[in-house]
Amino acid sequence: MTESPNDKMYCYNHPQRETVLCCNRCERPMCTSCAVLTPIGYRCKECVRGQQKKFETVRWWDYPVTILVAGVLGVVGSFISNLMGFFILFVAPFAGMAIAEAVRLAVRKRRGRWLPLAAAGATLVGSLFSPVYLAIFTFLARYNTGLGSLYGLLWPALFGILCASTVFYRLKGIRL
Ligand SMILES: [Zn+2]
Ligand SMILES: [Zn+2]
Repeated sequence: MTESPNDKMYCYNHPQRETVLCCNRCERPMCTSCAVLTPIGYRCKECVRGQQKKFETVRWWDYPVTILVAGVLGVVGSFISNLMGFFILFVAPFAGMAIAEAVRLAVRKRRGRWLPLAAAGATLVGSLFSPVYLAIFTFLARYNTGLGSLYGLLWPALFGILCASTVFYRLKGIRL
C-alpha cells in the first residue's frame, strides 16, 4: 500500500509527530501539546498570543475617558430615573446599553481587561452619588420626613445597579 503525502500531517513545531489537529486560524497542523483550546476552537500558540495582544488595545487615557463618559451618563441617568420612578426598571437595561455604546465610541472600540469594570464602576458611582440623589438625601435628613420618603431613593439606587451591570456585561461581551 502506498499513501499519498497529503494524508499525513505533522506538527509545525515537532516535524516527527503525526497529528490530525489544525489551528483553526492559520490552519497549520499541530500536535496536542502545541494546541491550545480557546472558546473558539483549537489554535496554535502563536495565534493565541496574537489574539491576546489584539484584545489589549487599550491606551492609558482610555481609562479616564471611560470613567468620565460613564460617570456623567450615570448622573444623567439618575436624573431621569428620579422622574420616572417605577418605570426605570424597564429603562435601566437600555440606558446601560446606551452607556456601554457611548464608552465604546469614546475609546474608539479599543479593548482592555479592566475597561468593563471601570465603566460599570463609574456608572454606579455616577448614578448613586448624583446631585439628585444627594439633594433628596439632604432633604430627608433636614426635614426628617420619615420612611415613606425613602421610597424615592429606591429608584436611583436600582437604576444604578441595573444600569452598571448592563454596562459591565455589554462591554465584557465584546471581548470574545
Ligand atoms: Zn495558528
Ligand atoms: Zn507540536
